[in-house]
Amino acid sequence: MKDETLCLHAGYTPENGAPRVMPIVQSTTYVFDSTEHIGELFDMPTAHMYSRMSNPTVEAVEKKLAALEGGVGAMCTSSGQAASLFSILNVCSCGDSFISTPTIYGGTVNLFAVTLKRFGIECIFVDAEADEAEFHKAFKPNTKAVFGETLANPSLAVLDIEKLARIAHSHDVPLIIDNTFATPMLCKPIAFGADIVVHSTSKYMDGHALQIGGVIVDGGKFNWENGKFPAFCEPDESYHGLVYTKSFGNAAYIIKARTQLMRDFGAYPAAHSAFLLNIGLETLPVRMRQYCENGLTVAKYFQSRPEIETVIYPGLPGDKGYARAQKYLPNGTSGVISIVIKGGKANAVKFMDGLQLASNEVHVADIRTCVLHPASATHRQLTDEQLVAAGINPGMIRFSVGLENVQDIIADIEQSLAQL
Ligand SMILES: *Cc1c(COP(=O)(O)O)cnc(C)c1O
Repeated sequence: MKDETLCLHAGYTPENGAPRVMPIVQSTTYVFDSTEHIGELFDMPTAHMYSRMSNPTVEAVEKKLAALEGGVGAMCTSSGQAASLFSILNVCSCGDSFISTPTIYGGTVNLFAVTLKRFGIECIFVDAEADEAEFHKAFKPNTKAVFGETLANPSLAVLDIEKLARIAHSHDVPLIIDNTFATPMLCKPIAFGADIVVHSTSKYMDGHALQIGGVIVDGGKFNWENGKFPAFCEPDESYHGLVYTKSFGNAAYIIKARTQLMRDFGAYPAAHSAFLLNIGLETLPVRMRQYCENGLTVAKYFQSRPEIETVIYPGLPGDKGYARAQKYLPNGTSGVISIVIKGGKANAVKFMDGLQLASNEVHVADIRTCVLHPASATHRQLTDEQLVAAGINPGMIRFSVGLENVQDIIADIEQSLAQL
């Protein structure tokens, strides 16, 4: 089935007389007819037993997300941050390292460079545009993964996924891709060689600014039995000697993430949140088309204005990322535009405060147009050096075009620019 159909039908198929709409199973627990049956579940997790690890409503959404990304399984998390964290913890332990490009979400930079470091996991940052030799030099014997973002928040750099997949696979480690801004409507990283895909579902997928969430999707193609990942192919003493690759084959990664990480850390979404996310997903294809159309129209308008120094929008002919976007995101590059206004930070703030329709908020990829100044908000914790590495100019504004009529969005920009 094609994306539009999957968005409506994957994950939940009602039986005769069952509710048309996917029901909310609001229960922390599940009943079984014997002690023995429950005991068996602790040897082999084949059914829902406790909603810290799985729930039928969340599971339906997981199946939909796995289908959309072309993966073999998915696990939802209570935030995008939890998805990024678990995606790494599932392959790295204290004493390990992994490679990431620095052109990623500010919260992820902090997680990787500061918090994971405190737990003994080292993140080695390598510029996404560095040549392959430089990447190879960065690998150590303990390097267990490569991480990057399809369409970086907020620099909008387009990642060469195939290059990173080639590099990661030549060292027998998986490539993990944060595909939040693109969504599987605009890019499917697994098809380009990624092994694991993570999302903040709080953005376009939810779409309506209703609930925070994340997901990890397992592409199911990576060989965990290559000698580098004993935790996948040796008995898990914390799960009665379960051997993930033996019991679950190519879904070993995602089952291990659930039975170890979700069991122990517990960052599973509530059934009600998954229900709301599902409503967002149902209309994702139509919304993404309109975001891309409005985004391109507004990007062209910004380009025509003398007050604007730089417009970054990879869907715009002439943009530095245009050629690569034609390959990885041929149907459009979302509604997010980065602009730099002449006159630095002072004018950026004045322009943002002068907007009346677009709101100033800590969000992006919402149905309503919103703006944010990364250097003073989401990326505030970064040093000037890290800001530059993440592709962020101190005067940069992240302009997230919503689904209002595009002429109204432009009129709002026009009146605020006129006040500068
Ligand atoms: C927002 C975001 C995250 C973090 O997700 P939360 O749901 O806010 O925890 C991770 N990656 C990207 C690209 C994001 O935009």
